[in-house]
Amino acid sequence: MSSEKKKPLDWYFKSNLLLRILIGLVAGAIVGIIFGSKTAWLNPFGAILVNLLKMIVMPVILSTLVVGAASIKPSTLGKVGVKIIIFYLVTSAFAVAVGLIMGNLFKPGIGLELGVAADAAGKVLKQPKLVDTLIAIIPKNPFGAISGGAVLPTIFFAIILGISISCLKENDNERIKNSAETLLKVFDGLAEAMYLIVHGVLQYAPIGVFALIAVVFGKQGAKAVGPLGTVTLAAFLGYIVHVVIVYGIILIISKINPITFFKGAKTPIITAFVTRSSSGTLPVTMEAAEKNFGVSRNVYSFTLPLGATINMDGTAIYQGVCAIFIGFAIGMPLSFGQQITVILTAVLASIGTAGVPGAGAIMLLMVLNSVGLPVEAGTPVAAAYAMILGIDAILDMGRTAVNVAGDMTGTLVVAKSEKQVDLEILERKAQL
Ligand code: ASP
Repeated sequence: MSSEKKKPLDWYFKSNLLLRILIGLVAGAIVGIIFGSKTAWLNPFGAILVNLLKMIVMPVILSTLVVGAASIKPSTLGKVGVKIIIFYLVTSAFAVAVGLIMGNLFKPGIGLELGVAADAAGKVLKQPKLVDTLIAIIPKNPFGAISGGAVLPTIFFAIILGISISCLKENDNERIKNSAETLLKVFDGLAEAMYLIVHGVLQYAPIGVFALIAVVFGKQGAKAVGPLGTVTLAAFLGYIVHVVIVYGIILIISKINPITFFKGAKTPIITAFVTRSSSGTLPVTMEAAEKNFGVSRNVYSFTLPLGATINMDGTAIYQGVCAIFIGFAIGMPLSFGQQITVILTAVLASIGTAGVPGAGAIMLLMVLNSVGLPVEAGTPVAAAYAMILGIDAILDMGRTAVNVAGDMTGTLVVAKSEKQVDLEILERKAQL
């Protein structure tokens, strides 16, 4: 059969993507150090990757969020719904704060001097006031917001649209019900198609990362290795602190032994780490919620898919650390006000992040935009962003594991408070 024939590019497409990206990173660094500024001609290959990533942002946010919000049944949107949404939002805000603290402690990127402050930030240097930012979240024209790439207003609109669809799906009028279901299917199809495109774009990532990194190292030389190590360290410490301290305290307050929790959540957490996809891990997460924790299906069938769509604490930490890194790298450390904006936008960005590999890096573009650091090809911000992209696979493993741990913590805590946990199963886990 022809499909079994070896194709010429099999060595590329059939090999491990993670490994390929890492090879792209290392090879790019070596080529950059050896050839110095002669690597400048590689720039367009990097720009292709940046454009491809930007291309996906708006459709991904719109489709994923509409589908996510539509999965909230209005009837469940009672106590459990309100509690879990509050849990997801509050812990995400803590997560960005943890990321920012780690960033400020480690100061990754300091001394990189990728560019001088003034020309570093491109055009939008002025920081809008927080009240204005908040009001601007409501789009005057949703279509304008989508086509203009305004992420926050699009998120706002998508959530409202999703909730309306979910209400209409329960309508007694057959016609209305059917049309709502059809509309949802359209968004669902769009979301699936976008995941496929993300997958395709990632196939190009090793080449794009190679080019971007070669250009950065061509200019910077070996000076760039240390800061990337520091970013990784800061992000992973942030992940650990968040899981151990924030989730640990919440679990203890809810009278759940954290050790019992980690025993039961081990498999989904490891699966998330390896697959780098909270959506992909969902079946494993659900099974663990039922079999290891005895959470009632009524609760987890709603809270876990919702969590896999909107609750991304690891992604929020990562965005905090990376925003700080990029500020330092271009010689323009983020001010306190900018860091507050990062908290707000990173929470929203993490909500808008799809639970698939690499999605958080795409949403980082929006966080950077919100603090006046747009990624434009050829600017120092783009160079700093490229460096992050080069190690994104490693950062993604950790953040996805945290994302899933957060979904499970929220689900267990909320279910327990609503007496929707089979305590016998939970206690059995504790004794194992
Ligand atoms: N890979 C992450 C997840 O699936 C999302 C991200 O890239 O931050 O949870």
